[in-house]
Amino acid sequence: MDCIFCQIISGKIPSDIVYQDEEVLAFRDINPQAPVHILVIPKRHIPSLDQLTEDELPLIAHMVEVANRLAKEEGVAQKGYRLAISCGQDGGQVVPHLHLHLLGGRRLSDELG
Ligand code: AMP
Ligand code: ZN
Repeated sequence: MDCIFCQIISGKIPSDIVYQDEEVLAFRDINPQAPVHILVIPKRHIPSLDQLTEDELPLIAHMVEVANRLAKEEGVAQKGYRLAISCGQDGGQVVPHLHLHLLGGRRLSDELG
């Protein structure tokens, strides 16, 4: 499997891990767009939101729950933060392994795209 995030999960590629459990892994983005920029990913390889099945929907809820908790731990929850998932080419998805961005620690752009 040459997926870069699967290699982070297996430990082949080092990363700055902030949280993990059986279902998800959270680590700091290598090219942070904000003072706090963490990626929350499923440990199972799911290519994108577009390929998410109904059975996998609870996983998204869990990813959001983990991101909300990390926002508190990182001290950005009170001032606010953004959760974002890119999907496909027009959505700006670069890594084809589902990931939720947690961004915070500065006033983010009013534009979403
Ligand atoms: P996206 O554009 O939504 O697909 O986001 C992919 C994100 O993965 C980008 O913000 C990259 O900076 C980040 N990224 C790529 N490679 C790594 C890596 N080895 N470790 C941490 N973050 C990475
Ligand atoms: Zn993968």
